Amino acid sequence: MKRYSILNNLDKCFFCGRPAECIHEVFFGTANRRISIENGFCAGLCHREHNLSNKSVHKDREMDLKLKRAYQKEYMKTHTKEEFIRLIGKSYL
Ligand SMILES: [Zn+2]
Ligand SMILES: [Zn+2]
Repeated sequence: MKRYSILNNLDKCFFCGRPAECIHEVFFGTANRRISIENGFCAGLCHREHNLSNKSVHKDREMDLKLKRAYQKEYMKTHTKEEFIRLIGKSYL
């Protein structure tokens, strides 16, 4: 399935704005990865901020949360919090 982003940011890194080098599933893990792909919870990232440094979404909890919150907020512009929780299992806000 083709990745898309509800924030329309697959071309640029979410954090530094440089051209994206990879696409990250914002709510990763076994079940949520697929849900992320289906619902546009995907983000463009540079490799460094994806997983190649300690300041990356896979290693820094704060960066991970910042990304997750941005997508939950965007999703809740058109859906309820309950719908988000039904999808992802919990709220990050
Ligand atoms: Zn970056
Ligand atoms: Zn990733």
